[in-house]
Formats: sequence, structure tokens, C-alpha cells
Amino acid sequence: MNQTTNARPKIAIIGAGFGGLWAARKLAAADVDVTLIDRNNYHVFLPLLYQVAAAEIEPEQIAYPVRSILRQHPNVNFMMAEVTGVDFADKTVQTSVNDVQYDCLIMAMGSRQHFFNVPGAAAHAIALKTVNDATAIRHKILSYFELAVNEPDAAKRRALLTFAIVGGGPAGVEFAGALRELINRPMQRDYPRLDFADVRVILIEATDEILNAYTDKQSDYALGRMHDMGVEVMLNTRVDEVFADGVQLSDGTWLPTHTVVWTAGVEGETLPAGWEVETKGLGQVDVLPTLQTTTNDDVFAIGDMAYVEAGGRPIPMVAQKAMQEGEHAAVNVLHLVNGTAPTPFVYKDLGMMATIGRNSAIASFGRFHLTGFIAWLMWLVIHIVNLIGFRNRLVVLINWAWDYFFFERVARLILTKEGTRQ
Ligand SMILES: Cc1cc2nc3c(=O)[nH]c(=O)nc-3n(C[C@H](O)[C@H](O)[C@H](O)COP(=O)(O)OP(=O)(O)OC[C@H]3O[C@@H](n4cnc5c(N)ncnc54)[C@H](O)[C@@H]3O)c2cc1C
Repeated sequence: MNQTTNARPKIAIIGAGFGGLWAARKLAAADVDVTLIDRNNYHVFLPLLYQVAAAEIEPEQIAYPVRSILRQHPNVNFMMAEVTGVDFADKTVQTSVNDVQYDCLIMAMGSRQHFFNVPGAAAHAIALKTVNDATAIRHKILSYFELAVNEPDAAKRRALLTFAIVGGGPAGVEFAGALRELINRPMQRDYPRLDFADVRVILIEATDEILNAYTDKQSDYALGRMHDMGVEVMLNTRVDEVFADGVQLSDGTWLPTHTVVWTAGVEGETLPAGWEVETKGLGQVDVLPTLQTTTNDDVFAIGDMAYVEAGGRPIPMVAQKAMQEGEHAAVNVLHLVNGTAPTPFVYKDLGMMATIGRNSAIASFGRFHLTGFIAWLMWLVIHIVNLIGFRNRLVVLINWAWDYFFFERVARLILTKEGTRQ
């Protein structure tokens, strides 16, 4: 590898999500200088984002400042900046702040919400993808309850209190359950003058089952739990168009609502300007088994933005994929720096789990498929352990316990400047 200077090799990493952060940590003890770039100054634990949207926990409890995480690693520099392009010939990352020179580049920019070109979706639906999205959703829900309680027109009141969630995957199901739990107890107690028959949480799924990555038995269990909790699940139903005041469904139904939360799909993040590269799967960058890109040996792509297969099938966009690839790309970067050959990435499938509500979850580990309370306990422990920061773990645990025993949600202030979309 030709280094740009005689100094230590310069490694640039774009994205401080699960992929980029894990790569940076792996390189922390190495004889290289790392620049980690992200548009935000924090790392987000996305698996609990839906709880922010459902007013269960505060954003600060799932987001952690990158500089604090990297405090112990003097060879890793953090830059808060928007990456606008990459000059691969000049080995330079162009950002909204400064250009960053590199000898090796790891791209870990994640994914963005995919609206499948459904008319009106990008304009009127809110994605559940960032902290801003989650706080905007929370703001909308809480504000609409306040508007509804003083709305004399019954049809307008019902539209304010109808919450549509598009996509029956883990994010949609988890959010629908958490929202129904917010409504069923804390909101019912606080709004005694509202008729809660007017409040609807509707989960819209285009296929004939929810959580279709799980077994049929687990999907049926989740569907049953959704019904028990009061979530209306519409299967085999597509959203044809989203408007500011409602949703047009494929079966001809017009659903009056001002809140459409879009969890139906994701695609690879927009690539930096100046990069003509083949994409596969869900708009992801095609990479070699070593995670190097097919166009540039010194550029790696990992996490949600990279298309990688295991056992002949694409690995889903999950945190484990990003973390494992981040560490592997870091090791391969060191191979390049030391003049040795990079090695192929081997994915270790650690299983998957989703929570449906109080006391119920589903989990699959290889041939073992669990449903119910034990799966829920495992979900709790795994998510608490994986949160970054002892204080966050403690505060989230206290919030969960408070909610579990007293049916009370703490994060219910309506802060008008929150979120990007009002
Ligand atoms: C609501 C939700 C729930 C989820 N639940 C689970 C779950 O329960 N279990 C699970 O395993 N996975 C879950 N996932 C998926 C998991 O979070 C992702 O697979 C994982 O975050 C991918 O890691 P990544 O590093 O590729 O991308 P990300 O973690 O998304 O990080 C990408 C980073 O790149 C930054 N970035 C992007 N573009 C630019 C740019 N141009 N300039 C500067 N910075 C940029 C972003 O700010 C971000 O910090 C969930 C995802 C969501 C959205």
C-alpha cells in the first residue's frame, strides 16, 4: 500500500454507527491514525429507538457522545461533519468541515428509509430511523391527544387519534405494541374525558403475515398478542398513497389519519458524490469477501450499506452484521498496512429477537425458536447489556421497572422545538 506521507497510516471511517464505531475501537490500539466522521456527535442504539417514539425513554438514554466513547483512544480523532464526496484518486474524503486524507477508508454510512416510490409517503409519513424521527413521532402523538381532547367534531377527533404504522417487520411490531401500551394505561388515566374507542393503532402489512423472518408459529403468536393489546393488523394490504389527512389503501379503504409511521423498508444510504459503484440487494454496495469494494482495494464497505452473503443468502441489515464486519474490516486494514493479504469475512449468526409488549417476545437461535416470557426476559437482558454507558443502562432499567410496575411513562413532555418534522 502506498502511504500518503511518511507518518503513520491514516485510516478514515465514515459513520459512527455499529459498523464504524466497532471498526474504530478495533483500530484503537494499532499503530495507525484514525479519523472517524459522522454528521451527528453521538452513536445511537437503534434497537430501542421505538421506545423513544413511544414516550418510554428519553433520547439521551439510547444515544451516547462519540467523543466520550473514544476518550481512552488517543489515536482516534472524531470529526462531526457531513460527508459530501470522496475523491478516490486523491484519497480524500470531502466533508462539510475539512477534507480528510486517507490511506485506507472504511465506509459505514448505514441505510435510509425506503418509501418504495409510494406517492406522498416521503412528504407525509415519518420514518423511524433517527433520533429526530423518534422525537418527532412522540411529539405528534402527544400533541394530537391534546388537540383531540378539545376537538368537538367527532370525525376530526378520530382522525387525530388514529395512528397508522406501515410495515409488519420488527420495528413496526415493536412500535405498535409500545404505542398501544402507552395508550392503554398512561394515556387512559390522563385523559378521562376522551372516549378511547376513538383511539386506533393500525399496523398495515403488505404480505400475509407479520415478522416474516420468524417461524409461522412465532408470527401467529405475535399476531395474537397484537390483537390482545388492541392493535388492528391489516394483512395483505398495501398503502397506495399517503396524504396529509389520510392514507389510501389497496383494498379501497380511505383511512383518515395525520400520523403515518413508515417502517416498511430500508435501502443502502446515498453514496458520496464521485463514486460509481455497482449496487446489489437493497441498494447496497457490492463487496469482495474481504469487504473491500470491487472498485478500490483500499476502500471497505460494511454494515447496512454493504451487500454480503452467508450460506448463499444476503445477510439481513442487523447490528451484529455491522459490528462483526466493522471489526473484520479493521483487521483487514491492518493487513494492508502491514503488507499481508486481507482475509475473507465469516458471519457468525447470533440469532434474532423482537419484543411484542409486556412479558412477550420471540427469539430464534439456530434451530431453537422461543416465544413468550422467557424470550422477553432474554430480550431485556441482551438490550440492557448492549446499551453503551453504565448510567444509560441504569436509567433505562429504572424507566422500564417504573413502567412495568406502575404503568407510567416518564418521557411525555411536549417540547415544541423537538424533531425535524412537526
Ligand atoms: C428502528 C430500528 C430498529 C432496529 N432494531 C434492530 C434490532 O432490534 N436488532 C438489530 O440487530 N438491528 C436492528 N436495527 C438495525 C441496525 O440498527 C442496523 O443494522 C445497524 O445500525 C447498521 O449499522 P451501520 O453502522 O451500518 O449503520 P448505522 O448504525 O445506521 O450508522 C450509520 C452512521 O453513518 C452516519 N452517516 C450516514 N451518512 C453520512 C454522511 N453523509 N456524513 C456523515 N455521517 C453519515 C449516520 O449519522 C450514522 O451514525 C434497527 C434499525 C432501526 C432503524
